[in-house]
Amino acid sequence: NIRIVLAARPQGRPKPSDFRIESVGIAEPGEGELLLQILYLSLDPYMRGRMNATKSYAKPVEIDGVMEGGTVARVVKSRHAGFAEGDIVLSHSGWQGFALSDGVGLRKLDPAAAPVTTALGVLGMPGFTAYAGLLTIGQPKAGETVVVAAASGAVGSAVGQIARIKGARAVGIAGGADKCAFVRRELGFDAVVDHRADNFAEQLKAACPDGIDVYFENVGGPVWDAVFPLLNEFARVPVCGLIAQYNTIAASADDRLPTLMQQVLHRSLTIRGFIQREFVDQRPAFYRDMAGWIASGQVRYREDIVDGLENAPQAFLGLLEGKNFGKLIVRVAQ
Ligand code: NDP
Repeated sequence: NIRIVLAARPQGRPKPSDFRIESVGIAEPGEGELLLQILYLSLDPYMRGRMNATKSYAKPVEIDGVMEGGTVARVVKSRHAGFAEGDIVLSHSGWQGFALSDGVGLRKLDPAAAPVTTALGVLGMPGFTAYAGLLTIGQPKAGETVVVAAASGAVGSAVGQIARIKGARAVGIAGGADKCAFVRRELGFDAVVDHRADNFAEQLKAACPDGIDVYFENVGGPVWDAVFPLLNEFARVPVCGLIAQYNTIAASADDRLPTLMQQVLHRSLTIRGFIQREFVDQRPAFYRDMAGWIASGQVRYREDIVDGLENAPQAFLGLLEGKNFGKLIVRVAQ
């Protein structure tokens, strides 16, 4: 049995020496346990984050600890009532050949229903990520334009296709001619743009003549820069991944966008702008409630009244420096 452990925390791009292969024995399952032989290990972008010491939404892998990962495994020995030898299961056994399990978190797979590898992809975590992120946050509507990067990948490929099922126009972004051809021809996206092309931003604009209504963010970095100006009013941006910045060691002092976006992702922040007039239908309720709160003393207010229209410019400049104290109002006439 071999396993791969984290030997060192990478600085920037990981190197082979950040990993170490170890030869170890195969443990015997105790009562209530089973021995799994790993058949497939999923490799996913989130693993880069687990190699860092900093805690994000999940705990880091310890130094000398087995690298984490989703796996499809065969039960080779079972002392667990719920599993028999030969069962195929989805587990989270990490980068190793064999693993013990107490059965918790295992999901039995039916190889006759679908190739078992799909449990790590389109029918697994990445597919679910696409489905939930797009439908819950993106909320694509018929006729809208949905853009997704890493479009040939596990998440992005599902995003675009689900968008099309919902009647939206799917525009993919992918790296290189082969991936682009796959996205357009095999996956049936309506358009695809190569983010490595020199005039990528122009091509993206041409591919989105009606702007972008949903941008499913998988990469960040220069792709986001190109997407951002094309976002329509009320566009939704599920922030799913920022792979272009996973190797960045520290945010630079004068560019805080990567840090902001990382926190949007890690803390599942919803950031939504608005202009009050879009809530115009709530005005009658507002007038009624606020008048009542003032009358009852539950809401108090302060006004800063400046006399004379000629003093308006000065007062206004003061406002921009915090010189007003309360709602600034010019008394123009008695
Ligand atoms: P993919 O199968 O799409 O593989 C990663 C792809 O990212 C690469 O093939 C490459 O595609 C693209 N890529 C890598 N570096 C860059 C870069 N610097 N600029 C632009 N594109 C780049 O991976 P997944 O589908 O598994 O994951 C996609 C994203 O979804 C990742 O950001 C991942 O972290 C995120 N994710 C988030 C989850 C969540 O719960 N929030 C769950 C699962 C995934 P190309 O060559 O086409 O550019």
